Amino acid sequence: MSEERRQSTSPPLSAPRAGGELSANLTSIRDTFSSRHHSLDFAYSHAQYLRNRVLAVGLIFVLLSPLWALVDVVMLPRELLGTTLAGRAFLMAGLVGTLLLAKFSREKIGRIRLSASLLLVLPAAFYAMVLMLLPPGEAERLAGYAFIPFLLVAALSIFPLTIVESLAAGIVMLWLLVYAQTVDGSWFTPAGLEGLWLLTSLLVVSLTANHFQLSLLMRVYRQATHDPLTGLFNRGALKLHLDKLQAWRREEHSGGQLPDCAVLMMDIDHFKRINDSHGHSVGDTVLTEFARVLASQTRAEDCVARYGGEEFVILLVNADIHRAHDVAERIRQAVEQHHFPDHNHQRVPVTTSVGVARIGDDETAEEALERADAALYGAKDAGRNRVMGDASLPPSALR
Ligand code: GH3
Ligand code: MG
Ligand code: MG
Repeated sequence: MSEERRQSTSPPLSAPRAGGELSANLTSIRDTFSSRHHSLDFAYSHAQYLRNRVLAVGLIFVLLSPLWALVDVVMLPRELLGTTLAGRAFLMAGLVGTLLLAKFSREKIGRIRLSASLLLVLPAAFYAMVLMLLPPGEAERLAGYAFIPFLLVAALSIFPLTIVESLAAGIVMLWLLVYAQTVDGSWFTPAGLEGLWLLTSLLVVSLTANHFQLSLLMRVYRQATHDPLTGLFNRGALKLHLDKLQAWRREEHSGGQLPDCAVLMMDIDHFKRINDSHGHSVGDTVLTEFARVLASQTRAEDCVARYGGEEFVILLVNADIHRAHDVAERIRQAVEQHHFPDHNHQRVPVTTSVGVARIGDDETAEEALERADAALYGAKDAGRNRVMGDASLPPSALR
């Protein structure tokens, strides 16, 4: 997912990053080309999908591979049979290991990617090994091996891989086919060229399938986690992100001091009046512009979400209560100064009230949100267009 660079100070070490929330536009080729621009949230969802595919395809490979040993027994010369059967046993063990790796790596993106690579590399390595051990002139006795590169390239289309990942795997399979052709003597013959052409065409089809599959996955992910009007995270995604952040704080800093995190809750002042006097479409424009202001005042790792109608929440990572107040005040001023246009491009005056709360070490994310909400209503009661802190904090905590 494209990740719009926002004003960036030094990012936290390994805090779960939000990012990418202002990019609910069409999926571009850049998004499916490599995973460099994917937000961590999408990478996680993507890895779960990949894991399910690895488990399904891996199981099929594990079941099919021993069946083919029967064909080997009939077809292969005795001196080669022992080696291929040993190779098959090794392949089976590798595939079972790959399945176990995927099964017990639900949370680990790197391991899931590794299991997908192993699923492709193991059968290819097995085929290459058989080719290397084959006595001269015995190549035509191999049955059911030559299709391995074709099967693996076709399998690429089942996985939601990026184009770069599939291309790398495809190049390895092309090399394997060329090597097989030099062994069986079909290299640069009409039959050999036909095989190469077929594998290349299949690879192009698989790359196209990868692009569409990954695009679809991104679209589904966006629809489930993003607000369509503003492109910000929705309430459900915010909740998941808050839980993830709390888990990260406890895991990464058990024993030591937890990194400071804070929530800001914002509500546009007298928004109903804007709708009533200018119409709902201007109200919608105000919401969209408001979201832009919030994004421009935060870093890529902060999670910005639309909480409800004209209520927004920002989750600040590695920010103490003083910094949280500074950001809140900066946002309040930026909103007050921003040009929100009406139908005639005239300025609609907009202000916001903000409630700030530190996320406590032992509390749930909901408790922090409730305190930010209470602070917000304190700001409304005090006259709106202001920032209010958590009432549970002593005044000395703030400067
Ligand atoms: P306060 O200063 O106390 O917050 O007053 P308010 O008028 O902003 O508060 P209230 O909660 O009464 O009004 C919120 C309004 O937001 C009511 C609803 O019609 C409007 N609203 C909610 N979602 C949308 C939306 O997606 N688009 C538009 N245009 N209006 C929305
Ligand atoms: Mg309001
Ligand atoms: Mg409201």
